[in-house]
Amino acid sequence: MKEKRLSKSEWKRLEKDLLREKRPAWSHLKAKERKEVLDFSNGYRSFLSTAKTERETVDFICRAGEENGFVPVSRISSGNKKILWTYKNKLAALAVLGKNTISRGVRIIASHIDSPRLDLKQNPLYEELDMAFLKTHYYGGIKKFHWVARPLAIHGTVLKDDGRSVRIVIGEDMSDPVLTINDLLPHLAAKVQGDKKLSEAIPAEKLNVLVGGLHLPGPDEAKEAVKLRILTLLNERFGIKEEDLISAELEIVPAGPAREVGLDMAFVGGYGQDDRICAYASLQAILSLEEQGVEDTVIALFLDKEEIGSDGNTGAKSRFLELILYDLFRCQGIVPEADSLVRALMDSRAISADVTAGIDPDYQEVHEKRNDARIGYGICLTKYTGARGKYSANDAHAEYVNWIRRIWNGFGVLWQAGELGKVDEGGGGTVAKYMAKHGMDTVDAGPPLLSMHSPFEICHKVDLFMSYKAYQAFYQCDGGAAPYEDN
Ligand code: MN
Ligand code: MN
Repeated sequence: MKEKRLSKSEWKRLEKDLLREKRPAWSHLKAKERKEVLDFSNGYRSFLSTAKTERETVDFICRAGEENGFVPVSRISSGNKKILWTYKNKLAALAVLGKNTISRGVRIIASHIDSPRLDLKQNPLYEELDMAFLKTHYYGGIKKFHWVARPLAIHGTVLKDDGRSVRIVIGEDMSDPVLTINDLLPHLAAKVQGDKKLSEAIPAEKLNVLVGGLHLPGPDEAKEAVKLRILTLLNERFGIKEEDLISAELEIVPAGPAREVGLDMAFVGGYGQDDRICAYASLQAILSLEEQGVEDTVIALFLDKEEIGSDGNTGAKSRFLELILYDLFRCQGIVPEADSLVRALMDSRAISADVTAGIDPDYQEVHEKRNDARIGYGICLTKYTGARGKYSANDAHAEYVNWIRRIWNGFGVLWQAGELGKVDEGGGGTVAKYMAKHGMDTVDAGPPLLSMHSPFEICHKVDLFMSYKAYQAFYQCDGGAAPYEDN
């Protein structure tokens, strides 16, 4: 068979018509949009610097929500279209009522606001060799060597024996001291650390936080004078005593603010971007909606406990979402029938807003270049997660992926599609499968990070902004059901 040789222009046309073009997002943007990207990242940095725990993030969300006209569900009256929920101070949701009935389903963006960290144990404070320390139990997937020999802060809440609670943040203000976990000097580390696997070189029980070294003057036979001084300090400043630390949630997190990274300031570096970057982007997306602007009711859901499997009553496996739907039925004056809730959930659509791994130029061997997310190429749509043959994944339906990509293309969102790492190299999960359990269409979408799960995670500013645009488009678009043949 003889084939016609294509001319240069015919070739170009074919490429344009058939190939999916991959270009770094920044180079697509107009000057005005570039400014928007940079401005958006400034607000994000100050959010990251202050909201380092799930409770602090819930506070931020409530404040931002109320400033933008969202009313706590306990105080709503007829006519309120913007509603705010919190639960146990660790889970939050915002909703904007749409024109359509709830019975036809809602649109949900679910992110998580917990991040890997070191929690204090139940009996944390002890003294050893005239120094005081706090024992920790790590939360979520960490590389333990990240946490030694660096400035740390303590954030959390203590419930005192009179039942009152006190919030604690130490190590963020420049006038505050910081805390730290000591590491062994290289001169003596050859055997106990150097000969071991990276994952075993620093045992969890050695992640003890240095908090004191001054003796409280007292009688000669007095014991643990450094520990007692620390308790005295805590008592003077916060009115707490040792037993109060049992009814407390104190989290050890990296100290200091999020920073711009790179000589060209392309990146934001900071703790907890998995997954507060999606929490922030979806929060800003729902805050940006005009009251009259949404067809379906939209929800931004901010979940806890994702990093430890989504269990617990503030995690994605809880029934909080169902309660929100009942409240929304009430807001629309609908008396739900026995199957109304299940039907509304099944007709809903969700984005599981969570980060993915960007290809790390130094570790390309764990990535599959054609399918992993590129830093600076926009939000990444992840059809499936899981490991070892998609095990435990919510594998989004092609029809739903089609619906999402048409929306994003229509709104000028710059996006990419990919998965996390080479097949059989590792993998991970998100809240997607717990959303899908309700029957709703769900797909993962979020920005790629570098150094994910480290104390200083890196995002590209353009990926942050495109995530915001993508979530906004999901909320704003005119709907029309996903193209299932049985619809
Ligand atoms: Mn995550
Ligand atoms: Mn994570």
